[in-house]
Amino acid sequence: MLNNHNKKLIIANWKMHKLISTAEKFVTNFSKHEISNVCDIVLCPPATLLQLVNEKFLNSSIKVGAQDCSAFSAIEGAFTGDISAEMLSDIGCEYVIIGHSERRKYHQESNALIKNKIINAHQANLTAIICVGETLQQREEGSYKQVISSALADSLPSTSNITNIVIAYEPVWAIGTGRTATIEQIEEMHQFLSKETLSRFAFSPKIIYGGSVNLENAQAILDISNVSGLLVGGASLDPEIFHKIIKIAER
Ligand code: PEP
Repeated sequence: MLNNHNKKLIIANWKMHKLISTAEKFVTNFSKHEISNVCDIVLCPPATLLQLVNEKFLNSSIKVGAQDCSAFSAIEGAFTGDISAEMLSDIGCEYVIIGHSERRKYHQESNALIKNKIINAHQANLTAIICVGETLQQREEGSYKQVISSALADSLPSTSNITNIVIAYEPVWAIGTGRTATIEQIEEMHQFLSKETLSRFAFSPKIIYGGSVNLENAQAILDISNVSGLLVGGASLDPEIFHKIIKIAER
């Protein structure tokens, strides 16, 4: 739970990508670059690579996060396939992504389940990166603010505070589609999220943007007020491109 509120936060979400060999190649090439600590950098590889990535960046400013954790509160137990938040903490993670739209869509994750995961993350001293965003249909119907407001109200537990929560605004229609939200849309939603968290929870955490971020649009997105950083999917898989995005954020 070490995120510094004034620093930009740049998070790589590798999703279900990379084997040991390709992860080692990434780490070797990425490590050739000087990484200052102007920004907070978090790499979120699949669970199979957490240890490898954590060991490579031990004693560096680069932190490691997982892409999910168990909703069961047990540290250990008969929950085949689950990984507890405590286990993630034990392996060196400081962050965990929770409620990504791909988890909501392919695993039918509800806000209630997501709330349990966030509580478990907090119990294990992890910062929870909570993803919220509307579908294209919800945007076109005009219900998008209501959807996001309910997602926050129904999933943020009372254990949340300014340092153990990061909100990632990720419009579902912009993830992996090459279609980025416009500057106006991002500005509107980040301002909305900032006001919403302040009025509902009396704190305003870092609010980062995710959805087809790339080298061309990163600067313009980071320049928007209330954008505290980026959640980068596809463009984080290449060490050179991801490093260039970090350099943009350092400006
Ligand atoms: C994501 O996975 O959170 C994401 C934003 O992906 P992409 O950058 O590929 O759209």
